[in-house]
Amino acid sequence: MENCIFCKIVAGEIPSPRLYEDEKMIVIRDIEPKAKLHYLCIPKTHFALLSEMDTEKAEILKHCFSVIPALEEKLGLQEGYRVIINQGENGGQTVKHLHIHLLGGEKLADF
Ligand code: 5GP
Ligand code: ZN
Repeated sequence: MENCIFCKIVAGEIPSPRLYEDEKMIVIRDIEPKAKLHYLCIPKTHFALLSEMDTEKAEILKHCFSVIPALEEKLGLQEGYRVIINQGENGGQTVKHLHIHLLGGEKLADF
Protein backbone atom coordinates (compact mmCIF):
# COMPACT_ATOMS: atom_id res chain seq x y z
CA MET A 1 0.00 0.00 0.00
CA GLU A 2 1.50 3.32 -1.09
CA ASN A 3 2.11 5.97 1.54
CA CYS A 4 1.63 3.55 4.40
CA ILE A 5 4.44 4.01 6.91
CA PHE A 6 4.12 0.45 8.25
CA CYS A 7 4.20 -1.05 4.73
CA LYS A 8 7.40 0.94 4.20
CA ILE A 9 8.87 -0.41 7.45
CA VAL A 10 7.84 -3.97 6.49
CA ALA A 11 9.46 -3.49 3.05
CA GLY A 12 12.63 -2.12 4.66
CA GLU A 13 12.23 1.26 2.93
CA ILE A 14 12.17 2.90 6.37
CA PRO A 15 14.82 1.30 8.59
CA SER A 16 13.49 -0.01 11.88
CA PRO A 17 15.25 -2.71 13.90
CA ARG A 18 13.18 -5.90 14.01
CA LEU A 19 13.08 -7.67 17.34
CA TYR A 20 11.24 -10.53 15.69
CA GLU A 21 10.31 -11.38 12.12
CA ASP A 22 8.65 -14.26 10.35
CA GLU A 23 6.73 -14.68 7.11
CA LYS A 24 3.59 -13.00 8.47
CA MET A 25 4.66 -10.32 10.96
CA ILE A 26 7.37 -8.16 12.45
CA VAL A 27 7.86 -6.75 15.96
CA ILE A 28 9.50 -3.35 16.37
CA ARG A 29 9.79 -0.78 19.14
CA ASP A 30 7.27 2.06 19.06
CA ILE A 31 9.04 5.30 18.11
CA GLU A 32 7.14 7.21 20.84
CA PRO A 33 6.86 4.72 23.70
CA LYS A 34 3.80 5.13 25.96
CA ALA A 35 5.25 2.74 28.57
CA LYS A 36 8.72 1.63 29.66
CA LEU A 37 8.46 -1.09 27.02
CA HIS A 38 6.27 -0.47 23.99
CA TYR A 39 6.33 -2.74 20.97
CA LEU A 40 4.32 -2.94 17.79
CA CYS A 41 3.41 -6.25 16.23
CA ILE A 42 2.79 -5.43 12.57
CA PRO A 43 1.29 -7.94 10.11
CA LYS A 44 3.14 -7.88 6.78
CA THR A 45 -0.19 -7.76 4.92
CA HIS A 46 -1.79 -4.32 4.73
CA PHE A 47 -5.26 -3.94 6.16
CA ALA A 48 -6.53 -1.23 8.45
CA LEU A 49 -9.48 -2.51 10.42
CA LEU A 50 -10.79 -5.59 12.14
CA SER A 51 -14.00 -5.00 10.16
CA GLU A 52 -12.07 -6.04 7.02
CA MET A 53 -11.65 -9.52 8.47
CA ASP A 54 -11.76 -12.49 6.14
CA THR A 55 -10.30 -15.98 6.41
CA GLU A 56 -6.81 -14.91 5.32
CA LYS A 57 -6.67 -11.96 7.70
CA ALA A 58 -8.08 -14.05 10.54
CA GLU A 59 -5.23 -16.52 9.95
CA ILE A 60 -2.71 -13.67 10.12
CA LEU A 61 -4.08 -12.39 13.43
CA LYS A 62 -4.30 -15.93 14.79
CA HIS A 63 -0.63 -16.27 13.91
CA CYS A 64 0.28 -12.98 15.63
CA PHE A 65 -1.56 -13.95 18.79
CA SER A 66 0.07 -17.38 18.76
CA VAL A 67 3.58 -15.94 18.43
CA ILE A 68 3.27 -13.03 20.91
CA PRO A 69 3.16 -15.26 24.04
CA ALA A 70 6.31 -17.05 22.87
CA LEU A 71 8.10 -13.67 22.72
CA GLU A 72 7.20 -12.52 26.25
CA GLU A 73 10.54 -13.41 27.79
CA LYS A 74 12.63 -12.11 24.89
CA LEU A 75 10.75 -8.79 25.00
CA GLY A 76 10.90 -8.47 28.81
CA LEU A 77 7.14 -8.80 29.18
CA GLN A 78 7.05 -11.84 31.44
CA GLU A 79 5.60 -9.83 34.37
CA GLY A 80 2.57 -8.92 32.28
CA TYR A 81 1.63 -6.47 29.59
CA ARG A 82 -1.25 -4.75 27.87
CA VAL A 83 -2.41 -5.58 24.35
CA ILE A 84 -4.13 -2.79 22.41
CA ILE A 85 -5.48 -2.55 18.88
CA ASN A 86 -6.69 0.98 18.17
CA GLN A 87 -9.48 1.13 15.62
CA GLY A 88 -10.56 4.16 13.63
CA GLU A 89 -11.06 7.76 14.62
CA ASN A 90 -12.61 7.25 18.05
CA GLY A 91 -10.09 4.53 18.87
CA GLY A 92 -7.20 6.91 18.21
CA GLN A 93 -5.78 4.92 15.30
CA THR A 94 -3.18 7.12 13.60
CA VAL A 95 -1.59 4.53 11.30
CA LYS A 96 -4.18 2.86 9.09
CA HIS A 97 -2.32 -0.45 8.93
CA LEU A 98 -3.59 -2.75 11.64
CA HIS A 99 -1.04 -3.32 14.39
CA ILE A 100 -0.99 -4.72 17.90
CA HIS A 101 0.50 -2.60 20.67
CA LEU A 102 2.32 -4.46 23.47
CA LEU A 103 2.92 -2.27 26.52
CA GLY A 104 4.75 -3.33 29.64
CA GLY A 105 7.99 -3.21 31.60
CA GLU A 106 6.20 -1.46 34.47
CA LYS A 107 2.86 -1.47 36.29
CA LEU A 108 0.49 0.29 33.90
CA ALA A 109 -2.16 2.75 35.02
CA ASP A 110 -5.75 1.49 35.21
CA PHE A 111 -7.95 2.61 32.38
P1 5GP B 1 -1.97 3.94 16.51
O1 5GP B 1 -2.19 5.29 17.10
O2 5GP B 1 -2.27 3.95 15.02
O3 5GP B 1 -2.65 2.82 17.23
O4 5GP B 1 -0.43 3.63 16.70
C1 5GP B 1 0.55 4.04 15.83
C2 5GP B 1 1.84 3.94 16.58
O5 5GP B 1 2.90 3.91 15.65
C3 5GP B 1 2.10 5.12 17.50
O6 5GP B 1 2.24 4.64 18.84
C4 5GP B 1 3.36 5.75 16.97
O7 5GP B 1 4.22 6.20 17.98
C5 5GP B 1 3.98 4.62 16.17
N1 5GP B 1 4.77 5.03 15.02
C6 5GP B 1 4.41 5.94 14.08
N2 5GP B 1 5.37 6.05 13.14
C7 5GP B 1 6.35 5.19 13.50
C8 5GP B 1 7.61 4.85 12.93
O8 5GP B 1 8.04 5.38 11.89
N3 5GP B 1 8.36 3.91 13.57
C9 5GP B 1 7.93 3.31 14.71
N4 5GP B 1 8.74 2.40 15.25
N5 5GP B 1 6.74 3.60 15.29
C10 5GP B 1 5.96 4.54 14.69
ZN1 ZN C 1 0.35 -0.74 5.23
